[in-house]
Amino acid sequence: MNIILFGPPGAGKGTQAEIISDELGIPQLSTGAMLRAAMKAGTELGLAAKAAIDEGSLVSDEVVIGIIRERLAESDCANGFILDGFPRTVPQAEALEKMGVRIDCVLDIAVPDEAIVERMSGRRLCSACGASYHVKYNPSADGVTCDRCGAKLIHREDDKPEVVLHRLGVYHAETEPLIGYYTNKGLLKAVDGCGAPAEVTALVREALGI
Ligand code: AMP
Repeated sequence: MNIILFGPPGAGKGTQAEIISDELGIPQLSTGAMLRAAMKAGTELGLAAKAAIDEGSLVSDEVVIGIIRERLAESDCANGFILDGFPRTVPQAEALEKMGVRIDCVLDIAVPDEAIVERMSGRRLCSACGASYHVKYNPSADGVTCDRCGAKLIHREDDKPEVVLHRLGVYHAETEPLIGYYTNKGLLKAVDGCGAPAEVTALVREALGI
């Protein structure tokens, strides 16, 4: 199954993608995680993306389309994949279509703006494996290190309140038009993303019919 997980920053795309990826045995393709890994490694791509990411703006379509094109060509995507954080603009969606990639379902995880800032101020990310936690809703066992790999948890610079407000503005202006784009193609299914992670997972499963 080829799935797009769609929604505003902080909707829980990463958390749900991780669960569904384990369950279906298909990879989670997170452009945000790929860009952060490139930044950490200090590659040319990472350096080019850093300014946009730090200020909460989008990295250029050309760069992210290139990353996804390469990633989708890898053999583990042959039986399906979950796109998490891509496409984020209409040109990115058009590029995906031009690559001949068939999409089975676009899940829109809907969360109102008011809930997003609270969520993101409590979000913590593993500095090594990228696993996602929340200080209140989904804490790690000791609150400071990752349950999965033991590395330190961090608060992403772009999850700080002033940057989150900017990211929400970018989402409404540039990403939200994709709701119409995929509705017109009959692919969009909306899921209420306001509940606890396990409640949202139940709705995601139902929407995907798994
Ligand atoms: P995320 O982890 O999905 O919230 O992404 C973090 C940041 O990476 C975003 O705020 C953007 O700066 C950049 N990014 C991730 N995916 C994309 C994309 N599809 N298009 C443009 N920028 C992206």
